[in-house]
Amino acid sequence: MDEKQLEHFRGLLLHWRGELVDEVTRTVSHMKDEASNFPDPADRATQEEEFSLELRTRDRERKLIKKIDGMLERITIDDYGYCDACGIEIGVKRLEARPTATLCIDCKTLSEIKERQELG
Ligand SMILES: [Zn+2]
Repeated sequence: MDEKQLEHFRGLLLHWRGELVDEVTRTVSHMKDEASNFPDPADRATQEEEFSLELRTRDRERKLIKKIDGMLERITIDDYGYCDACGIEIGVKRLEARPTATLCIDCKTLSEIKERQELG
């Protein structure tokens, strides 16, 4: 991958990361605002359920942010866009659709087949 492409993906990842960070920050402050005392226990339960769903989503997003950080690191050391399993270039097209991909489409397909087999 040349310099220009790397820059392109760096921009893409940074933009995505920014959106995720916004999302996480927004939810946290929203949860602080709304953590009011509902007198009705049913309302409270509903709110708690919503919060725990939110927290799970935030948790996923935080993990994604970490993954993006790892990808940015790989761009810095010029190791971005190579398959972790076989070492070939993942391909710009696949990375456009999935900038955090660490496997080429062949290895990805293979690992999915293996996963299915392991699950029975
Ligand atoms: Zn591969």
